[in-house]
Amino acid sequence: MCRVFIGLTLLAMLIKPAMLEAQNAAASAPSIRYTVRFPDPASHYASVEAVVPAGGRSSVELFMAVWTPGSYLVREFARNVEGVRATDAAGHPLAVEKSRKNRWRVETGGAAEIHFSYRLYCREMSVRTNWVEDKFALLNGAATFVSLVGGLKLQHDVRLELPAAWKSSITAMPDAPDGAAHHYLAPDYDTLVDSPILLGNPAVHRFDVDGIPHLLVDEGEAGVFDGARAAADVEKLVRAYRQMWGALPYSGRYVFLNLLVETGGGLEHRNSVCMMASRFATRTRRAYLSWLDLASHEYFHAWNIKRLRPVELGPFDYENETPTRSLWIAEGFTDYYGSLALRRTGLASEAEYVGSETPPAAWSLSGMIGTVQSAPGRLEQSLEEASYDAWIKFYRPDENSANSSISYYTKGALVGWLLDARVRKATAGKKSLDDVMRLAFARFSGERGFTTEAFKQLAAEVAGVPLGEFFRQNVEAAGELDYNEALDWFGLRFRPAAAAASNGNGGKKANLGILTKVDSGRLVVTRVPRATAAFAAGLAVDDEIVAIDDFRVRAEQFAQRLENYHAGDKVTLLVARRDQMMRLNVTLGEEAGGWQLEVRPDASAEQKKRLEAWTGK
Ligand SMILES: [Zn+2]
Repeated sequence: MCRVFIGLTLLAMLIKPAMLEAQNAAASAPSIRYTVRFPDPASHYASVEAVVPAGGRSSVELFMAVWTPGSYLVREFARNVEGVRATDAAGHPLAVEKSRKNRWRVETGGAAEIHFSYRLYCREMSVRTNWVEDKFALLNGAATFVSLVGGLKLQHDVRLELPAAWKSSITAMPDAPDGAAHHYLAPDYDTLVDSPILLGNPAVHRFDVDGIPHLLVDEGEAGVFDGARAAADVEKLVRAYRQMWGALPYSGRYVFLNLLVETGGGLEHRNSVCMMASRFATRTRRAYLSWLDLASHEYFHAWNIKRLRPVELGPFDYENETPTRSLWIAEGFTDYYGSLALRRTGLASEAEYVGSETPPAAWSLSGMIGTVQSAPGRLEQSLEEASYDAWIKFYRPDENSANSSISYYTKGALVGWLLDARVRKATAGKKSLDDVMRLAFARFSGERGFTTEAFKQLAAEVAGVPLGEFFRQNVEAAGELDYNEALDWFGLRFRPAAAAASNGNGGKKANLGILTKVDSGRLVVTRVPRATAAFAAGLAVDDEIVAIDDFRVRAEQFAQRLENYHAGDKVTLLVARRDQMMRLNVTLGEEAGGWQLEVRPDASAEQKKRLEAWTGK
């Protein structure tokens, strides 16, 4: 399928002589030239050779990125590099010295270019790392290619030598001007890193919007995942966003890499996205909407974060952490639009989007509110702090994360929703968050970037009212969100789900508030949220619960046993902590009644109109 696009490129070159000239110029400019081979893919290794211009220097320094944009954690990609070797063009060995954890210094011996080769271990199945096996490979630039220190603006030329059984390589990286199969040319290192490559024999589903080819590339459909249907629905999302923003922000192909490998995740790029999901994702409506939500979120990033970006997120420092206070905009607002688009396209029903079904989907408004309201950390960490500390908190979760932090995704999405309602109310429905995003794109996209302050001011400009207090409360400080204004504007309400709170005996159902796991038949505490009965009683993570009031309770009986108690009952828990038995006195709490968001049955005509203006096409 890749050849189709090589053909397109050649055609475009014939039509556009100016472009041809540019590409010829590109072909003769200095570049780092890579060849990636897979001599034994089943061993999970790739071998990489980089030919690097030495520029007349006596030594050159090469580096490998320590993180990859969009995933805010130092991952030390250099740890997968083995068998490093450098030679001149004639194959004479050159001295190589490790100069930092992720850098190598090569003595050139006067050579015009050096050949730097290494083996790369590729067996981490995630959207930001590498995977190589006999059936396919996923290569992410940051984790794959060394580059020249100070040479990020050089062209990076990539040739892939595929095992005989693999027919395709697919990436959004531009095809090389020679039109050869599996030969790509990134105009700079940023593009190299921003263009993951899938190799193997994936199923490819194509649709065109504004004459631009879009590919849904499925690795592992296995006769289970319905790729044709998924592509048709992704096309609806692409068209909805195109309508919202006014135009597509790219002119070459856009690639949805969709690896059906029974794990999850998504990582955005300028002209592509890499997603991982279950091959069963199209088999139930619930799983399918969740997959569409992932695709919708990642695709929205083509505008928000990849082109309209916080000022800190570019040009990237690939060797150091790069914090920003704006991830609640870059990720949170993307999450808001990601799920809203499911409704605007009609892919999700009103009830599914609002989340008045039981249980609501995590991506629904009910689901997101539930996630935020059940995290005690919402009272501890502000959205700006959550953004800034993504590197050391969100990407390094532990058993206490829910107590100490809040997700800039879910809370950010809800603040997007509240801001949308505020702008609509302040302008009597004439403007919305859509206008804020469009103006921000017009003003800040490209090289410029936005500061958090500038974005807030722009939102106030569109709303025509001061928003200082709104942002202070919801973004700069920790604390509760006030949903009332948005509920009232759109004609929504919380409906209590009271039925679950009674055990049929009249009393309130008892609750300890912990999360547990079963480990070899033992009931082990995994989380103790703040402000619960368990937290007050001093129960700890890793405690094994053995008995309630000295009656043995087996792991599978625990929930049922608690049904025999009421909220307010005092019980003794027998627990084993590092194998030492101890008794803890607990006053049982009350199980939260639960609630769900729904459209008011008595919504006014005005509210119905606003709901339609918000979620309608
Ligand atoms: Zn995202």
